[in-house]
Amino acid sequence: MDNIIYLPREKVFRDPVHNYIHIEHQVILDLINTKEFQRLRRIKQLGTSSFTFHGAEHTRFAHSLGVYEITRQICNNFQRNYPTKTDGDGLWNDDERLVALCAALLHDVGHGPYSHSFEHIFQTDHEKWTQKIITGRTDINSVLTNVAPDFPQRVASVIEKTYPNPQVVQMISSQLDADRMDYLLRDAYNTGTNYGMFDLTRILRVMRPYRDGIAFEADGMHAVEDYILSRFQMYQQIYFHPVSRGMEVVLTNLLKCANCLYEEGQMEGFDMPSLLIPFFEKNVSIDDYLKLDDGVLNTYFNVWSNHPDETLRDLAKRFLNRRPLKSVKFDDSNKELVPLMEDLVEKCGFDKDYYTAINSSSDVPYDAFNEPKTPIEILQEDGRLDELSTLSTLVASISDKIEIDERLYFPKKMLTATRNSIFDEYYDEFQSHINNEELV
Ligand code: ZN
Repeated sequence: MDNIIYLPREKVFRDPVHNYIHIEHQVILDLINTKEFQRLRRIKQLGTSSFTFHGAEHTRFAHSLGVYEITRQICNNFQRNYPTKTDGDGLWNDDERLVALCAALLHDVGHGPYSHSFEHIFQTDHEKWTQKIITGRTDINSVLTNVAPDFPQRVASVIEKTYPNPQVVQMISSQLDADRMDYLLRDAYNTGTNYGMFDLTRILRVMRPYRDGIAFEADGMHAVEDYILSRFQMYQQIYFHPVSRGMEVVLTNLLKCANCLYEEGQMEGFDMPSLLIPFFEKNVSIDDYLKLDDGVLNTYFNVWSNHPDETLRDLAKRFLNRRPLKSVKFDDSNKELVPLMEDLVEKCGFDKDYYTAINSSSDVPYDAFNEPKTPIEILQEDGRLDELSTLSTLVASISDKIEIDERLYFPKKMLTATRNSIFDEYYDEFQSHINNEELV
């Protein structure tokens, strides 16, 4: 039997997206107060996107509370309208509530600073770290163990998608889950764009549990359709923005350069990023991992902006002062130009390992049938389930299509011919490879 303690009085956190986040369980409040969860206040949700959308300074902390709140509202709806009566009737068993709430709250606790670039360079995986933090020797683990000795493992298995109840797994991880609904609304709000807006209240009303997971009632189909389109727009307009990616490339190359200098023994004294050594050495403990946040990295970048190595110094300044690399789109028809252009960048005095990069963004706006993604099921009045894209022409038109945006990044100087410089010699040749309409 789980040890479930309710707070004497409900606690609330004010939130710009959901107005109030309601806390009813002692364990949720205790989890929020752990040092591992508080660390999420120091990690921005959207990383380098704030260089393009300056409002996007919101944190993983706020997003995690939001995912918890949406999950809580889903549980309330299920318990009020679809409570289980007999074992195996496919309806909602409210004994699952606490594991769902804890998994929702903790689903991103393993995110590192500037996730994308950091994971790329140091080959870390935030979902694996989330599970390690939940099951390892942490304050989060102690708090969860108070509920039941096997409770941490149950919460981790929801994140791992191996938890036996598919309703709980799909609440937190599917194509229409609490995670996606919160980040679309929150990112839209904080970037100051409207693309991510959709009718959350309506979607929550039409969600219902069934034996294999969660379905949506037919009269809510248009709200679901609108959500898919919002998601598509957010990826195109915000998450794949070429300038944010230009900053991500600077960051990735900066970390790559630091790693290389460390291996060559050129990081010493004050310049030595002691908290990054375990990552350079590829021997990272949970404590090492949890010491990092955006502030730690930014401090090293500041220190490195005076480093004797010219490349490290320059890349650090580019990151701190927002000097993204420029980019041009390419595809199969012109990809043979890429190595030629990289060589021209090198001829102009830039090390192509650190001043060029290929960055590609791709997303499937909605995946109708491919495993392991769960399709969105619409429940008809006669009890039949129809997959969303068979009902909606709009969704069908963007289903299963991969949107790829592949770009070559290079220094802005390659585009400015200044008299009597090395660039003049190569300017025309570089220009001849560029379609200016594709330039960002
Ligand atoms: Zn998330």
